Amino acid sequence: MNKLATYAVSEENSRGRKFAEPRAQGRSEFQRDRDRIIHSSAFRRLEYKTQVFVNHEGDLFRTRLTHSIEVAQIARSISRRLNLNEDLTEAISLAHDLGHTPFGHAGQDALNECMQSYGGFEHNLQSVRVVDVLEERYADFDGLNLCFETREGMLKHCTLTRAAQLAELGERFMMGRRPSLEGQIANLADEIAYNNHDVDDGLRSGLITLEQLTEVPLVSRHLQQVRESYPGLTERRVVHETVRRMINTLVSDLIRQSAENIAGHNLMTLDDVRQAPLLIGFSPEMQQAQRALKKFLNTHLYRHYRVMRMSAKAQRIIRDLFGVFIADPRLLPTQFQSVKTQSEHVHARVVADYIAGMTDRYAVREHKRIFAVEEAAF
Ligand code: MG
Repeated sequence: MNKLATYAVSEENSRGRKFAEPRAQGRSEFQRDRDRIIHSSAFRRLEYKTQVFVNHEGDLFRTRLTHSIEVAQIARSISRRLNLNEDLTEAISLAHDLGHTPFGHAGQDALNECMQSYGGFEHNLQSVRVVDVLEERYADFDGLNLCFETREGMLKHCTLTRAAQLAELGERFMMGRRPSLEGQIANLADEIAYNNHDVDDGLRSGLITLEQLTEVPLVSRHLQQVRESYPGLTERRVVHETVRRMINTLVSDLIRQSAENIAGHNLMTLDDVRQAPLLIGFSPEMQQAQRALKKFLNTHLYRHYRVMRMSAKAQRIIRDLFGVFIADPRLLPTQFQSVKTQSEHVHARVVADYIAGMTDRYAVREHKRIFAVEEAAF
């Protein structure tokens, strides 16, 4: 690893872990966090969870696991170039989606609706809940006991009411302060990753075409370059060459602009980072280019009727499951019943944890097991 900038997160300025543990041998504390995340069961389940496409739609689409790995790759490159803590950036990136429900945003929206009278459901908070409470792996504590900065980086946004209940993790929201630069990088690497892989998956699925995409300046500029440099190249390679150039352009712009922002703020310490405005960001031109791409994906991919049908089906599954488990807790698997529910709120949270932890296919099967009457689905 490069020599860290004085304002990077380091083991020296870290606020450490909630439960004291002997120092890691032969690896940094943030590498240790990364390793704990990779060995968690929530991480393994990401393989069968999706963002846009339902998992069984095809084997070539991104899942949340491959998405998280792509985010980590992008975030590490940026972090290293800016002399920031690459290990921490990697840990945050790999953990950022751990709390996602099955069926991507459709699933999250449905579960949030179901949970309205019980405090709502937010995947970002759920990711923190997974690493703080839900993973059961260690003898001495619940969760993974990750370093403060890893947890803080995972919590991208939060309402003030919620922040007030989150103790030290909510502090920065209450005080209007910023997360570490490493956390800021993971957040934007997420955006770079999904915009680009959604273009790729969208094309692969046939829901959008290269022809349509020429209306997006960021795409058409690179597409034209590729077509001019390689006349007669197969369509598949044209797409890949275009997407990889787009990622490169976005990453280079982000590094350039962020370095300039950092230099302009005379940062010396991590505390300076927290008090400064957000410093990791794209240039104004690139922000605009990204917005145009997002707008395109919104209109042509995320609201495509076939995606809408998948979403509608997904939401029905989530609502049905939530409804039966709330009405009759005896239908929950035994280990979820063992939590002696003092109140309806606690019970609803147990149900939400159970549903949020499901993979796409597990949710489909569970729905069948409970609702299907025509076959031996029990
Ligand atoms: Mg993500």
